[in-house]
Amino acid sequence: MERFRLKKALDTLARKEGRGTELVSLYVPPGKQVSEVLNTLRQEYGTAANIKSDTTRSNVQDAITKTKQRLKLFKKVPENGLVIFSGSIPQNGPGSERNETYVLVPPEPISINLYRCDSRFHIEYLQEMLREKGVYGILLVDSSDATFAVLQGRRLDVVKEFTSGVPGKMRAGGQSARRFERQREAKILEFFNRVGKHATEIFLEVENLKGVIVAGPGPTKDDFLKGDFLHYQLKDRVVSTIDTAYTGEQGVKEVVEKAPDIIRQVRFVEERKLMQDFLYEVGHDTRLATYGEEHVRRALKIGAVKTLLLSDELDIVRVTLKCEMCEHSEKKTMRSREVETFQQRISSEPCPKCKSPSLVVEKAEDIVEDLAGLAEQSDAEVEVISTNTEEGQMLKNAFGGIAAILRYRL
Ligand SMILES: [Zn+2]
Repeated sequence: MERFRLKKALDTLARKEGRGTELVSLYVPPGKQVSEVLNTLRQEYGTAANIKSDTTRSNVQDAITKTKQRLKLFKKVPENGLVIFSGSIPQNGPGSERNETYVLVPPEPISINLYRCDSRFHIEYLQEMLREKGVYGILLVDSSDATFAVLQGRRLDVVKEFTSGVPGKMRAGGQSARRFERQREAKILEFFNRVGKHATEIFLEVENLKGVIVAGPGPTKDDFLKGDFLHYQLKDRVVSTIDTAYTGEQGVKEVVEKAPDIIRQVRFVEERKLMQDFLYEVGHDTRLATYGEEHVRRALKIGAVKTLLLSDELDIVRVTLKCEMCEHSEKKTMRSREVETFQQRISSEPCPKCKSPSLVVEKAEDIVEDLAGLAEQSDAEVEVISTNTEEGQMLKNAFGGIAAILRYRL
């Protein structure tokens, strides 16, 4: 959900374009003093006084003022830092500019310290946070050494490295070939055991370990995986094996380069699995699954939903209508692009209760937020499913993008 929220916010921001160089982006990293940032903004306000065009000057200064006002609401910069976007955005052609200000507390700490005035909002530093999260163990193994690393987001820690002690394939002169081979095999076995032991110690300690990537040049990694050297809990979590050109840290870096793709695939596998669980219930008519907004909403309200599955391409909002003359209020679901015409239409319609033409749209909330809110109340799991898999497409097209696996039959 966190990822979904950020994606929605960034999609909205990406569409905003200024009339000129008038849009302010401000990134404040954690630990920075609010007063210090306010000082910077005061200076930028002064610099903006030199802008020749009256409109641009006034728009930039207005954006800086709005940014300052929002910033002042924080006594302290939040743990993950703070991002503010502000500027005059044309609403409907030239001359229709109106200030829009957005405050975002990033889901992960930011390290960037930035003030920028441009014709667009600089969202690229937040976009990085949209990548799939999770911690991955990397085990690089070949016949000469083993390297253990932990990858968390963009952070890579090489935890341990040791040599195998396995002699090369060439034996010294005078040695018996069979005896040499036996000795070598014993050394490999001993090495693999050592690798397995360290993998358990290192990776099983890692919190929220999502998967283990086993890599290395040549077939040693496959031999290692074939045997029972890895703890069964780790073996279950091996998500990929990768051929690398190098061993050691160099090899780890090769893995990291390929990691985003692997991590994406891991999420696809998860999504596919969730959908297959749902499809199983539907296909076997167990009555432990339901779909469509109405049915799912009803199941959510009584706390019957175990897992709520929502397509990330749902473009539907839940609109709350209310009458300004009486206490009448109702909710309606519609496509987001229909809201505007709907708003116009109801303004001339009589209230069903007091008959006065006083209906207004009070709130229009993304259906994902709306349903996820209900899910939270009953501790149901919420999964936003992409359309990158066939099953995800099916959720969107065959089930209206809204489905649920139930805790019990209704
Ligand atoms: Zn009314």
